[in-house]
Amino acid sequence: MTTLEQSRKLVTEIPGPGSVELSKRRVAAVSHGVGVTMPVYTARAAGGIIEDVDGNRLIDLGSGIAVTTIGNASPRVVEAVQAQVADFTHTCFMVTPYEEYIAVAEHLNRLTPGSYEKRSALFNSGSEAVENAVKIARSYTRKTAVVAFDHAYHGRTNLTMALTAKSMPYKSGFGPFAPEIYRAPLSYPFRDGLIDKEWATDGELAAERALNIIDKQIGAANLAAIIIEPIQGEGGFIVPAPGFLPALRAWCSDNNVVFIADEVQTGFARTGTMFACEDEGIEPDLIVTAKGIADGLPLSAVTGRAEIMDAPHVSGLGGTYGGNPLACAAALATIETIELDGLVDRAKQIETVMKDKLGRMQADDDRIGDVRGRGAMIAVELVKSGTAEPDPELVKTLSAKAHAQGVVVLTCGTYGNVLRFLPPLAISDELLTEGLDVLAEILAEL
Ligand SMILES: *Cc1c(COP(=O)(O)O)cnc(C)c1O
Repeated sequence: MTTLEQSRKLVTEIPGPGSVELSKRRVAAVSHGVGVTMPVYTARAAGGIIEDVDGNRLIDLGSGIAVTTIGNASPRVVEAVQAQVADFTHTCFMVTPYEEYIAVAEHLNRLTPGSYEKRSALFNSGSEAVENAVKIARSYTRKTAVVAFDHAYHGRTNLTMALTAKSMPYKSGFGPFAPEIYRAPLSYPFRDGLIDKEWATDGELAAERALNIIDKQIGAANLAAIIIEPIQGEGGFIVPAPGFLPALRAWCSDNNVVFIADEVQTGFARTGTMFACEDEGIEPDLIVTAKGIADGLPLSAVTGRAEIMDAPHVSGLGGTYGGNPLACAAALATIETIELDGLVDRAKQIETVMKDKLGRMQADDDRIGDVRGRGAMIAVELVKSGTAEPDPELVKTLSAKAHAQGVVVLTCGTYGNVLRFLPPLAISDELLTEGLDVLAEILAEL
């Protein structure tokens, strides 16, 4: 395990000469279709710090998009993966299986919301797990249609591109997309409130709007599943108004429609509960997890009611690498770390620090339209002074300047005007505050 000093330090310009050199090689060797947020090349990472190849130490407020939630190269994970790689690297669970896969499934069945009997199946990426959740729901209901929501992000494979809402950069030019996917309006309190105050605060009313469309345009008789992120990730960290998710959940139960929670980004302590659905006591039929599950090793899962999960025929689910033993070892160590180190509570503390600071910034800056999110998943939506008009240019400038000062921040949102924070839960309050101070200073100067 590398010990990495937990402080921000710039020894070159950002990007430094080593990174500039690697960027040249990247442009020559890597498909230009793969974009890069910040052309600064990583040498090491731990806690709240990423050290680049030039020796600069950056504050990490992104966790590799909500993946290294427990901290990069977290000690228990390093130890577990090193032990596993020496034992065996792969046999394929569908050929000669192994205990680690079962143990991960047992933990998922225990930790996910709902006290009913559950099963899990493991895959490699969030998209792959979402695709499998849809397969399972169709197999169980014998119906085909699937509803996703405005601003949704569910991945980049063909079926998940169809579920994802935003055209650029995720879908444009990559169609045709999978059929039988429909879109319903979300509850987006900040923007709904501009139209009607009640819509912003009454989630049941917003659910009624969505369910009306679902009922009239698709019909429950044809609908296999509704898939929704309990807090939207790429779409802008949109937290639906209270009551929205429970109303959808209840309607699915009444109509033999599988309720799928996509917790790829929100899962594993990120939002101050183990899973974001817990906040309103939602018990999804199927829950999709990935990102935070294994501290960066590729792993994803579908977990849910036994009768639904067992619906597909034997060998209908699987894949060569799904539930790879190294990834499973990392997941077991990740879950142990979350539980033993009290990281769910740590996410709540991080929320307090961030909301306090960002709330004070909002109070004297009318370009901060909204501060929202839960736990260590917090965002600010930036708008043209005193209006609700999205200001993507401001977000672009702000994040570029933050990068130059050694703070890794990410952006998101349908309108590209949301600055999002996904710090690792291993970050210190000092680093977190320093990162936010840097942003506040830049914003004040702009
Ligand atoms: C990232 C993400 C996915 C896709 O996961 P990949 O591992 O990138 O395929 C799906 N759903 C949500 C909510 C995500 O944030």
